[in-house]
Formats: sequence, structure tokens, C-alpha cells
Amino acid sequence: MKSTLCASLVNDPFGDPGMLVQFLFQKRALLFDLGDISPLSNAELLKVSHVFVSHTHIDHFIGFDRLLRTFFGREKTLTFYGPKNFIKNVEGKLAGFTWNLVDRYEESLTIEVVEVREEKLIKASFRAMDKFKLTNKKEFELQGGVILEDPSVKVRAVILEHRVPCLGFCLEEKLHVNINKDRLEEMRVAEGAWLNELKKAVLQEEPDTYSIDVPFKLDGKAGMKSISLGQLKEDLVDVSPGQKIGYVVDTVYNEPNKQRIIELIKSADIFFCESPFLADEESRGQERFHLTSHQAGSLAREACVKKLCVFHFSRKHIPHRERFYKEAEAAFQGALRTSTPPSTTN
Ligand SMILES: [Zn+2]
Ligand SMILES: [Zn+2]
Repeated sequence: MKSTLCASLVNDPFGDPGMLVQFLFQKRALLFDLGDISPLSNAELLKVSHVFVSHTHIDHFIGFDRLLRTFFGREKTLTFYGPKNFIKNVEGKLAGFTWNLVDRYEESLTIEVVEVREEKLIKASFRAMDKFKLTNKKEFELQGGVILEDPSVKVRAVILEHRVPCLGFCLEEKLHVNINKDRLEEMRVAEGAWLNELKKAVLQEEPDTYSIDVPFKLDGKAGMKSISLGQLKEDLVDVSPGQKIGYVVDTVYNEPNKQRIIELIKSADIFFCESPFLADEESRGQERFHLTSHQAGSLAREACVKKLCVFHFSRKHIPHRERFYKEAEAAFQGALRTSTPPSTTN
């Protein structure tokens, strides 16, 4: 698989949870959760375009100030996604500072906030030049759980139970569509804007009968001919799938959560999953609304993901680091599950 995304944890698994996804050939990154982000340099942070906050418990949101400090005074837009009440949480953070000097800055930061609800998105803006007053609050329909879609990626979210709503995320890289330039010459067709149309048609999965007008040169004469998408795909296009990355933290193991997580991360290339507790701490996990290593492994197995990365380990287990990996891997590779999830939360 050819991928231009590189995902890694921000901290050691015993530190605050967070994942940075860097785009290899663009100055761009996505950040999942916003706890302690001190390991990231300002240069790395300045590449971040979108931040996905699972929920606003302090270990997932304390990094907001550092990110704001890094971006403040720059002509940039940062978009944050979070669960119910997230707009209020961000508004509260911004209200904690005094902004009387913002008019002295020539460049102005814009913060877009998107609150993810069951069937809708609520969006609001905060602009530095307006002293970060809440403006432009609007509601949008949420379709298929897709909270972000652009030419490079698609991000879906589900709402999970953690005694508060907590978002699980799945990032999908779009297909890679490459044009074989050597073949253009052989076919005596010219480069041009039609190649963008061709890429777009492939990405949008138009039928093979869809036709595209292609400029050609033959015996010194230039002209246009219509060629079917099916033919062009066969002759000119190399398509490779993108990467799929799942990210789930802070959730209780029960039937509704389990179904939502499996549906979200189905066949992911890599699944980043919390595992604060060890396999024999299931009742503790239920009480605290968190997963065990074994439950993380079972979810990964049932969702048929290719690789599992467990993290967000409880600090009281610092001497047992290897047990988390071994227990999660054993469940992932097929050890029998010791319990079935309860069907409702308490
Ligand atoms: Zn939490
Ligand atoms: Zn947490």
C-alpha cells in the first residue's frame, strides 16, 4: 500500500493520549486529542490544520493553551472537533485570557469549532480580531458520521459512552490515483486539464462507460476524441488504496459501544486503542468506563484490523508495560474472550 500519512503517538503510552498524523509531502498534520503536547515542536504544531478532541477530560484537552499560544498572531485557521458542549468548552478556554491588544496584530487567527451530535454538527467561529467572540453559529446535517472530507482525507466519528459522550474517530486516506505519463506519449494524447477530470472521475467512482474528451495529436493534426473511463483506467491510471487509521479512547466495554467501534474501524490498517487496565481488571474498567488490554485486542480482532497499537495505560501499572502489549496481542490473535459485554451501561 502506498500511503502519504504517517501516524504516531504524541507521548509514551503512560503519558497523555494523543496521535499526530503527518502528511509526508505536504506541510500538514492532523492531531487527535489535545493533552500534554510538549513533545511536539512549534514547527510540527504549525502544520496542524484540524484537531479532533475525543472529550474534554483534562488529559485530552489541557494542550489547548499551548496550541493557541503557538498559532496566535498568525493568519491561519484551525478547526477543532469535539463532543456535546464542546463549543462552550472552547469559549470558556478563550474567555480565560485578556484580548485587549489583539488590534495591534496584523495577522489574525480564526478558530472554527465543530460540535458533533448524534445527527447534526453545530459549527461556530472565534476570530482573534473580534477578541475571540463567538460568531456564526450554525447547524448542519451529519451524514454517515462524516465530519471532515477534503481532497486528501475523510474523517468519521461515532459517539461512545464514557459517562460523558466521547468521540471515536476513523481517518481514511483517499485513493491514490497516478497517471502513467509514459503512456500519454505512446497514446499520442496531450497533457492538460482533462487529466484532473480523469482523476476526479476515478475518485468519484464514475461508471466505466463515463466518457472524457481527450486532446490528441496525430500526423501533425490536433483534435479531440471521446474515450471511456474504463479504457483510460486500463491504459493510463494506477490506483492504490489509501490508509485507514482508527482512534478510540476512554470508553466502556458494552454492546452498543462495541458495535459502534467495530463498524467505525472495520478493516483499518492500524487501530490506536486505549487500554488503561489489564485483562484481569474488567470490573474496574466497567466502573471507570475504560477498556482493558484484552477488550482492546478483542475489538481489534472482531473489526479485522491489520495492526493494533494499545496506549493510555494506567500509571499505576508502570512496572507492567509489557503485560499490556502481550494481553492485547493475545486477544487480537484469537485467545478466547473471558466475558461478553453487558448490553447496557449503568
Ligand atoms: Zn476520560
Ligand atoms: Zn483519558
